[in-house]
Amino acid sequence: MRYSQYLLPTLKETPSDAEVISHQLMLRAGMIRKVAAGIYNYLPLGLRSIRKMERIVREEMDRAGAIELLMPMTIPAELWEESGRWKEYGKELLRLKDRKEADFCLGPTHEEVVTDIVRGTVRSYRQLPLNLYQIQGKFRDEIRPRFGLMRGREFIMKDAYSFDLEEAGADAAYEKMYQAYRRIFERCGLRFRAVEADTGNIGGTSSHEFMVLAESGEDSIVSCDSCEYAANVEKAELRQSAATAAPPAASLQKVLTPSRKSVEEVAEFLGTTPDRLVKTLIVETDTGEIVAVLLRGDRELNDIKLSRLLGCNWAELASEETVLKVTGAPSGFAGPVGLKLRILADWEVREMSDAVAGANEKDAHFTGVNPERDFAVEAYADLREAVAGDPCPRCEGRLEVWRGIEVGHVFKLGTKYSASMGATVLDDQGRERILFMGCYGIGVGRTVAAAIEQNHDENGIIWPMPIAPFQVIVTMVNPNDEQVSLAAEQIHAQLLALGVESLLDDRDERPGSKFKDADLIGIPLRLTVGARALKDGQVELQHRRSAERTMLALEEAAARVAQQVRTELQMD
Ligand code: ATP
Ligand code: MG
Repeated sequence: MRYSQYLLPTLKETPSDAEVISHQLMLRAGMIRKVAAGIYNYLPLGLRSIRKMERIVREEMDRAGAIELLMPMTIPAELWEESGRWKEYGKELLRLKDRKEADFCLGPTHEEVVTDIVRGTVRSYRQLPLNLYQIQGKFRDEIRPRFGLMRGREFIMKDAYSFDLEEAGADAAYEKMYQAYRRIFERCGLRFRAVEADTGNIGGTSSHEFMVLAESGEDSIVSCDSCEYAANVEKAELRQSAATAAPPAASLQKVLTPSRKSVEEVAEFLGTTPDRLVKTLIVETDTGEIVAVLLRGDRELNDIKLSRLLGCNWAELASEETVLKVTGAPSGFAGPVGLKLRILADWEVREMSDAVAGANEKDAHFTGVNPERDFAVEAYADLREAVAGDPCPRCEGRLEVWRGIEVGHVFKLGTKYSASMGATVLDDQGRERILFMGCYGIGVGRTVAAAIEQNHDENGIIWPMPIAPFQVIVTMVNPNDEQVSLAAEQIHAQLLALGVESLLDDRDERPGSKFKDADLIGIPLRLTVGARALKDGQVELQHRRSAERTMLALEEAAARVAQQVRTELQMD
């Protein structure tokens, strides 16, 4: 490819609406352009990296025995009604009507469609196991699309679905996908962790997320410093400690705390510390229930754990209005004493004694608050968010906390979709059996963006060779010098003949700005062809990552570069 003829609109300035580095660099490197919130054009350079990522995914899916097909993006509502998700799936599902007023949605995920295919085509256990995958555009009407391809509304996903007669077979399919995912992210040169995860909207029995470690990640994950345990914070289990509360020493006493609402303000005002406060959160659920949740003052609620305990889809802090109605006081003064609500509490609250809690009265708190003596808790459970230093739930180690970008997710679905949609086969006894399913997603664009988060410097992207849009950039320092342009053309042609993806920078621009662009778009190897070195029959090879430079003889430059590319592409 010739740069002068290519569509590669690089930007000097960082676009002001791009918060994370991958988004900034993808815009600046001319890889993507926004069409609408969360909807992007993949410009030629961006598409090349996307296609490479897809190729790696395809190779590993095929190697694991999955079979590629392609399902439509537009899905009739009836299929989603069968699974029950037409009602359950929230506003992320973009619903639309055709000219006959029939309901459709744009597929955010394809369990229903693939289950429909299998129930219509697979009759016998002999056709199993089966794993079907596609690489396709998905649509989710995300509430906050942001960070470019990282959280788009329309985005490319690889989704695979496994079908097995027995649960053991489904477990094996899951394990195969898990290993394939490891290979995929290793091949991309990413630092990642596979963590236990919540099953969320998709449902099912167990799941792992693949998290690329990056400060800009939207997820928090924990991992044990001494065993293999790793989990999304949403899911991270905390053990009940063996500690018991000291017997109550103080009596309940109401104290004035004028305008002190936050835990920190109250603690400071009363000369105590946040961990001596009982934090009372008034929470509303999608089922319309209002409950009080108690936590130690220095802890945060994990709403996923709470939703699981309550058996609802979501639980969120109640509005100011609701708090006033159910506690009789503005928020900041709620407390368990005398409260007429279901009260759920984190295990740690049981260990507290002579604590401080809101008095359900404006500008007042109680001191000397003791669980059991002063209020009743319906259930104690693990409800708080894990923090660094918490004990590991599996061993004696301690948890560490990291930020991560979820690039892949594998789920055991059990029979959730096959049962509701009637996906069955006949077994060797002629009995009708419901299939066990698994589903496995990878965000293609998000993975490419995550790779940039991990591989960049102040000058731009530093592509890992396997997903680099081009492997080599041949920079003509002075295209008007006939010898320079001839030599560069020749090397470029030799590289192409050797199967190396070369971009020839033949633009009539200052060398400095060509070098800047080469750094920005992050091509792993740069061959610089300039008049001075050429007099000695040499060209310069520079590695984008190490900035290391070597002079190569003109005749052997292409072969040496081809060799370097092959080395950097190899895995295992
Ligand atoms: P998240 O929690 O980040 O919203 P999810 O759990 O909803 O993601 P899955 O349903 O597991 O996502 O989808 C499979 C994969 O698709 C994810 O691991 C992620 O890589 C990718 N993905 C999901 N939502 C988006 C999005 N809005 N933009 C880009 N990629 C996405
Ligand atoms: Mg997920």
